[in-house]
Amino acid sequence: MIVMKFGGTSVESQEAIARVTKIVGDHSHRRPVVVVSAMAKTTNELLDVGREAAAGRREHALAIVHRLRTHHLNHALQLAGAGAADLERYIRTHFEWLEELVKGLSIVGELSPRSMDAIASVGERVSSLIVTFALRAARIPVQHIDARRVIVTDDRFTQAAPIFDQTYARLKEELSLVARSAVVVMGGFIGATRDGQTTTLGRGGSDYSAAIVGAGLDAEEIQIWTDVDGMLTADPRIVTGAHRVKSISFAEAAEMAYFGAKVLHPATVLPAVEKNIPVVILNSRRSDAGGTRITSETMPSTNPVKSISSKRGITIINIHSTRMLMAHGFLRRIFEIFDRYETSVDMVSTSEVSVSLTLDNTENLDDILRELRTFAEVSIEADQAIICLVGENIRHTPGIAGRAFSVLNQNNIRMISQGASLLNLGFVVADSDVPTAVSALHNEFFSELDPAVFD
Ligand code: ASP
Ligand code: MG
Repeated sequence: MIVMKFGGTSVESQEAIARVTKIVGDHSHRRPVVVVSAMAKTTNELLDVGREAAAGRREHALAIVHRLRTHHLNHALQLAGAGAADLERYIRTHFEWLEELVKGLSIVGELSPRSMDAIASVGERVSSLIVTFALRAARIPVQHIDARRVIVTDDRFTQAAPIFDQTYARLKEELSLVARSAVVVMGGFIGATRDGQTTTLGRGGSDYSAAIVGAGLDAEEIQIWTDVDGMLTADPRIVTGAHRVKSISFAEAAEMAYFGAKVLHPATVLPAVEKNIPVVILNSRRSDAGGTRITSETMPSTNPVKSISSKRGITIINIHSTRMLMAHGFLRRIFEIFDRYETSVDMVSTSEVSVSLTLDNTENLDDILRELRTFAEVSIEADQAIICLVGENIRHTPGIAGRAFSVLNQNNIRMISQGASLLNLGFVVADSDVPTAVSALHNEFFSELDPAVFD
């Protein structure tokens, strides 16, 4: 059994859902459980509906609801074949329910997280029905399951956490048997508390749903279908000849995500990692493109570097204090300030009397600087970028740093860090140097490719 998750862009239109139908049909021998996101942009619009309603702009909120309803009907009904009338009724019922909710909220004039989740859930409830009808019209045996019956969560609405033992038990109870004879379709992102209140797992939560379902059913594989070919050796907007990375470890993928690559958030696939279930990133527009397979073990590769990520527009803060010479507690004092302003630090380098660190979120920078200046001299450098070489074999391969430095000798390197995990080597350079620096590094480390790992 496998899990196939389709993101918002993969179900954004009639054509996109037709592609999904074909892809699921091609995999039906592997007994897929299909997890779908809402149609692209729908979740954002639903959240607008809630805010507009609660702000008393009832007509505007209803106008968005009607637009969403039309959009869903326009793209769905032709896919449903003989089921069109039933599907239309289901879609209309969901949007009528939403209309009632909007009317209520606009009277009450407030939006609780609980109502927000009720509203947001409509996207996945409807998209999963549409995909179910499309599969049925394509003569694929299919069964729709309301995700709220199987994903049991706590009641932290809008950011609910799954209760794993109960969720896994329900998944086994409700899905194991059905999945033997039919493709099961369910919405991602949504769940319910034990007493049946609708919850959501947080934005982008459908990947998490897929990983939970895969882990709960001991899937052979979890496929995440999206709109890119998988993970690449570098950002294709920067490097024209970036290559696809065919296989990568979870640790490497996490490092890449942290330093810029947006394909998959590593925390969302943790349930899969814990059960050693491979996660494969695939492109629903080019289903034969191959994708990237993420597994717990790294594939041996003659290329020590798997990918170059970059995180742009970051700020360096240099903190210098001679008063702190030989004193302990200096770092703690600094980091307490960042903690208080909920600002995370990406890279740090220290000496006895100075600390340099990088931030990507500068929302509270003024306050942070004011507090730091009570005990240290502080300067900042804006418009910087982190460039990171990622690969588990970096630690076993001597001379990587030397090669990187000789390539970057034209650039002014502001900070260097070899991550404690030893699977990344990071540099901070001026943001304007990123295109030349990343291209030069890419030439250095990917001019010869191990065909087992790269394409
Ligand atoms: N539809 C939800 C969102 O846009 C969940 C997801 O797509 O992963 O956040
Ligand atoms: Mg999405």
